[in-house]
Amino acid sequence: MFFNSLRTRLTLWFGGLALTGVVVAGAYVGSIATDELKTIAGHRLEAAAESAAALLSENLRERQLEAQLLAQGPLFTDGDLAGRDVRRVLDIRKAAHGAYAWIGVTDQTGLILQATDGVLVGQNAAARPWFQAGQSGNFFGDIHEAVMLAKLLPQPTSGQPLRFIDIATPVRTRDGALRGVLSAHVTWDWVTETIATAVRDSLNNTQAEVILVNGNRSILYPYSLIGAEQAPALPDRSFRDLTWPDGAAYLTAAAQVDTGPDSSVVWTILVRQPRADAVAPVQALIRKLLVLGLIGVVVFSAIAYRFALRLSRPIEDLAEAARSIEEKDRLPETFPNAKTGPAEIRLLNTAFRSMAESLLKREHDLAALNASLEMLVAQRTAALEEANRELQRLATHDGLTGVLNRRRFDAIAAEHFSLFQRSAIPFTILLVDADHFKSVNDTYGHQAGDRVLQALAGLLLTNIRTCDILARYGGEEFVLLLPETPAQPDGEGLAERLCALVAKAPFPDVGTMTISLGVAQVLTTDSSIADAIARADMALYEAKRSGRNRAVTG
Ligand code: GH3
Ligand code: MG
Ligand code: MG
Repeated sequence: MFFNSLRTRLTLWFGGLALTGVVVAGAYVGSIATDELKTIAGHRLEAAAESAAALLSENLRERQLEAQLLAQGPLFTDGDLAGRDVRRVLDIRKAAHGAYAWIGVTDQTGLILQATDGVLVGQNAAARPWFQAGQSGNFFGDIHEAVMLAKLLPQPTSGQPLRFIDIATPVRTRDGALRGVLSAHVTWDWVTETIATAVRDSLNNTQAEVILVNGNRSILYPYSLIGAEQAPALPDRSFRDLTWPDGAAYLTAAAQVDTGPDSSVVWTILVRQPRADAVAPVQALIRKLLVLGLIGVVVFSAIAYRFALRLSRPIEDLAEAARSIEEKDRLPETFPNAKTGPAEIRLLNTAFRSMAESLLKREHDLAALNASLEMLVAQRTAALEEANRELQRLATHDGLTGVLNRRRFDAIAAEHFSLFQRSAIPFTILLVDADHFKSVNDTYGHQAGDRVLQALAGLLLTNIRTCDILARYGGEEFVLLLPETPAQPDGEGLAERLCALVAKAPFPDVGTMTISLGVAQVLTTDSSIADAIARADMALYEAKRSGRNRAVTG
């Protein structure tokens, strides 16, 4: 239910959309910013490489020119190369500039005639490349470890080997004849110091590093990388995003060092910066963006939740109202407020309310109709039962006198006979016949005769036991069944009492009248009630014959 609810779905949808937006925007901004930062960093590296190359080129050029100018001075063209003046000039020159480790001059055979601090004087440099090349023209040699000077000069404190680059230029007479070779050994530390100085400011606060490589892409500087790796194929002018042999990606810019017009030495300055370092600000930016974005997502989701609540609350209220109607058959006391919320919801609310009211009204009408129908059915059923009872009464009673009719009597008598056959407790049959009734009719009319019959029946009825059964047997004839009359006189006594009673009773229409009675007790020999009735009939006949107004037992 929770995940299916409108408010949850809307919130998740809006939240998800916002999150997607944040992620997409973050990725987009990140990629743009990464490219931008790479370009900026790359250009800075390019500038650093260019300026380092330019500074180094210029300084090297100065050193070369310095040597050339020195060699062209009169002291060297004309003077004594082994003289003290030459030594002093060389010493001054060396002292004036920290670049020089040694400056010396040879004769034509390579014998070192004079040198700074007198170092190597008297030794022969004929085998050294600088001497060989320096005889014919200006020479600029690649970096090399100290060969002749290794033991003579103080060792650097860095622990790195003593390394130089050699500059040489011929010393000639004014006529151009070769007198010897002037050579300067420039310390490698001065070269690297020059490079470091050039980039120090521009690469501050970054992990960028400067690398000097030769034409074979072998690393000359820094010392820690020498021999460890080789630079990748170099970019020409603009920077590149290169993977170096150490497996890491670096933004790399390169600049060629101009080592002089006479030099075949190829040096390239590379400035590289780990890509991760260059784009690090982007990561920070993206992290901030994500935090802001996530806050935005939460706020947006909360707003969406509130909005969804506004939408779903009226619907839930409606559902609650529907449930209340279903359970309690009436509108809830607080029916949802239809005045606020979106128009569709208000419409739904109004429609629901009118539908519910009309449904409830119909249900109440139906219930009322049902109740009245039930009442009607109950009334009709009662009337029918009454009619049935009346029919039953009519079927079993005599219409004139109200006592049982003959058909009902026959059935009851048959039952008593069956009972008698099992219990052997006898009962008695009395046949009662009005005397000379024909003349009553003839004299007083048939209606008076009816009234006499009614009075007679009433008289008989009030003078028998409640268990005795009286029926009209036909015409002016009645029959009585007296249950449980074990002794014959029981029936006879009643017959005589009735006879006497009638004879004395007043009958308004006719004055007095009499009856004759035939009495018969059932016998175990009787095969049916008809036998007993036949005996009673015989007795009645006998009563008539013997004068009427009497009872005769059969
Ligand atoms: P008896 O003493 O021998 O019985 O003479 P009786 O006249 O009573 O006998 P009978 O059988 O000759 O006549 C019976 C008369 O009873 C005939 C008939 O008109 C009359 N009766 C029979 N049923 C009714 C009745 O329901 N109403 C009236 N008013 N008379 C009836
Ligand atoms: Mg008769
Ligand atoms: Mg009669």
